Amino acid sequence: MLNQLDGHTILIGLMAYPIRHSMSPTMHNHAFDKLGLNFAYLAFEITNDGLPDAINAIRTLDMRGSNISMPNKQKVIPLLDKLDPATEMIGAVNTVVNDHGVLTGYTTDGIGMIKSLDDEGIDIRGKKMTLAGAGGAGTAIAIQCALDGVKEISIFNRDDEFLAQAQRNVDLINEKTDCKATLHHLEDQDDFKKEIDSAFIYADATSVGMNPLEGQTLVSDPSWLRKDLVVFDTVYAPRTTKLMEVAEEAGVEHVFNGLGMMLEQGAAAFKLWTGEDMPVDYIRHILF
Ligand code: NAD
Repeated sequence: MLNQLDGHTILIGLMAYPIRHSMSPTMHNHAFDKLGLNFAYLAFEITNDGLPDAINAIRTLDMRGSNISMPNKQKVIPLLDKLDPATEMIGAVNTVVNDHGVLTGYTTDGIGMIKSLDDEGIDIRGKKMTLAGAGGAGTAIAIQCALDGVKEISIFNRDDEFLAQAQRNVDLINEKTDCKATLHHLEDQDDFKKEIDSAFIYADATSVGMNPLEGQTLVSDPSWLRKDLVVFDTVYAPRTTKLMEVAEEAGVEHVFNGLGMMLEQGAAAFKLWTGEDMPVDYIRHILF
């Protein structure tokens, strides 16, 4: 353990299964240590079956909170007392905060994506985004970007079990935000090309590009990508995805993987629990 644990140490959890591979314990414990905060972050293997007891333990043990990951991100919702408004729309939770026994659920993935672009001097507010994917990451990104001032989002999904979620995201955004969202089908390649061409940013929030789909990309023709387009891939393992290679071949100046998003979603949770800013550059250096 890095920081000095004692009778005052405050516990934060991570409840998911499988979870032993996660970088979050290293991230948060190094950040606590760096800032001299008397917190400890531990991973717990929790499936849906164990979730009610585990969530209640946050209250019983007076933990400050927990991260929540698969398969518990949706199942946790009825076990909490409150959801923040964006999280209510997203319909999934990755962070729980315990305020004297009152548990509130948040989702920091979309916040992390926007902040990671802000960190690079890229402001997507008032602009058009073309987004592939409507799973956990795609939904958090779409809703948060719409709430935070992105003007227009064209959401693409293939015809699989996530297409209905894509439709739900579009309907919710149009109903509850000032952003204009439209649903598109990945199978319509002419439409996909056209929507990328008219966007300020193309964001890929699908699993394409990471194991077992490593080396694959939804956009394989560099001529689809303007040099002044921003290209963002949520995948961060591998560090350079096939989409990023195609973008670099096209001469795109601003090309990002999901590393910054991963760090900033953690930083947003860290802030909710501790009130402090995570030393993101220091943590980036430790983790990578
Ligand atoms: P998910 O399973 O919830 O959603 C998967 C999405 O990918 C769906 O929209 C699905 O339709 C689409 N998809 C899957 N295979 C496809 C294919 N062959 N062609 C076209 N579309 C396909 O997954 P998720 O949790 O949303 O994760 C999606 C990606 O985002 C993953 O690569 C994950 O690593 C990444 N992610 C990154 C961060 C971060 O902090 N950087 C956080 C969460 C997720």
